[in-house]
Amino acid sequence: MYKKERVFIATRHKKEQVIAPIFQQVFDARPFVSSFINTDQFGTFTREIIRKDDPITTLRRKCEYGYKTSGCPLVVASEGSFGSHPSMPFVNANEEVVMFKDFNENIEVIGKYLSTDTNLYESEVSSIIELEKALSEIKFPDHGILIRDKEENEVILKGVFDHEQVIRFVSASLKTGQKLEVSSDMRAVYNPTRMLNIEKATQALVQNMQSKCPQCEAPGFIVSDQKPGLPCSNCGMPTRSIKTAIKKCQKCEYESSIDFPNKKEKEDPMYCDFCNP
Ligand SMILES: [Zn+2]
Ligand SMILES: [Zn+2]
Repeated sequence: MYKKERVFIATRHKKEQVIAPIFQQVFDARPFVSSFINTDQFGTFTREIIRKDDPITTLRRKCEYGYKTSGCPLVVASEGSFGSHPSMPFVNANEEVVMFKDFNENIEVIGKYLSTDTNLYESEVSSIIELEKALSEIKFPDHGILIRDKEENEVILKGVFDHEQVIRFVSASLKTGQKLEVSSDMRAVYNPTRMLNIEKATQALVQNMQSKCPQCEAPGFIVSDQKPGLPCSNCGMPTRSIKTAIKKCQKCEYESSIDFPNKKEKEDPMYCDFCNP
């Protein structure tokens, strides 16, 4: 599967550093990039262009754009989101999603990785002491920073990794009365912590790709749908918890279902609408 085949990695920010080796090792494929690609049109982390769609829709558009630009029907793209952790609202998290599309076979597979390991940070700085605190939170200079004019909401410094130069720039700007905001640069190439999360998401992707349809061997035979109805341990009525997971082949539509995918055959009455309405 995909042995010696060219796979286009639709990235502008050096994500191929982590994506390409995995595709080489796992499939013996030939990943490549192009300097003509500009994925920034789909949204940037420097807030210059705001992402319009959800990550999956954005990834589909990125893959289609990659296919059109490169002419290569096998495309990989990646997309990250940052913010509060879905179940821990006070903790920052980074979710990375990597998508593979085979435009010949009309197959789409994704891999996801959610991590609390992120240097997401944003703070107004009005002194060099505050700047130093921000730099250490962001793990500068291993990780990039962005400095914005807060009133104009415009990035005035990025891609600088020299400590002295940043200090000089901030001192000069503060003297003119500019209000400054320092934040972590989340572009993958300037953010090794994020790059590691993209690597984990790519590993999840290739694992999903390696799961093949038992009937036609198409890749990406993974759980695509779930059905509720796990019975309550007290009254036996169906609850809203997952009872069945469904795997469906994207090519031949072969389907298989697995009961109790979470290794749980009964649900706690606490989640039962009849016992605990
Ligand atoms: Zn199939
Ligand atoms: Zn019940």
